[in-house]
Amino acid sequence: MDPEAVAAHLADVLGRIRAAEDRFGREAGSVALVAVSKRQGAALIRAAAKAGQRAFGESYVQEALAKQAELADLALEWHFIGRIQANKTRPIAESFAWVHSLCDAQHARRLDAQRPAHLPPLNACIQVNVSGEASKEGLAPGAVPDLIAACAPLTRLRLCGLMALPAPADEEAAQRLPLRALRELRDRLATPQCPLPVLSMGMSDDLEAAIAEGATLVRIGTAVFGPRPV
Ligand SMILES: *Cc1c(COP(=O)(O)O)cnc(C)c1O
Repeated sequence: MDPEAVAAHLADVLGRIRAAEDRFGREAGSVALVAVSKRQGAALIRAAAKAGQRAFGESYVQEALAKQAELADLALEWHFIGRIQANKTRPIAESFAWVHSLCDAQHARRLDAQRPAHLPPLNACIQVNVSGEASKEGLAPGAVPDLIAACAPLTRLRLCGLMALPAPADEEAAQRLPLRALRELRDRLATPQCPLPVLSMGMSDDLEAAIAEGATLVRIGTAVFGPRPV
């Protein structure tokens, strides 16, 4: 995509979010946008930032660090949404504000230990496999309580909620089922000590369904930046 076109696409996506908030009785402004910039160049991120977007999602650590260095003059909020490898927890702890793809207690303890003291705690969501396919990352719903318990004593990692990356479906009704499952899991597991307010769900093709089911944060790539270069 031409950087000139990013502002219009971003405005379209924000319009879709506002319309869905309205349509599904959600409070205006209750759904945050993370613009997923994985495999897109720094020029497009800069264009989106110029149009007012602040939160960006990245899936690959090395690629993200290179773009962060190029964009260091901007005050951006970086979200790690990719698969976590144990040997990459340090750069995630040092260079991101959020991690959405937590699936492992050992990773949680490493991120907590490696979070630099001068930064606020690292915000985290547990990724849950709500569609039950072998190919997708994420914890089985039944394993989530143990990971919540493992995070409870950590002071440098703040568990904020749950994330899902469901299998694609065409119909809004079908899209809603796994998203509803994530919300219901959150509702069952939330406690006063750990209220899990964040539901990180919704992408370019299912953001309306996600907002209908209670998403508080949508992760949108293609609709903001166009198709990813292959
Ligand atoms: C790539 C990606 C997205 C964005 O998907 P689009 O369909 O391009 O909006 C969202 N979440 C995760 C975890 C991703 O890897």
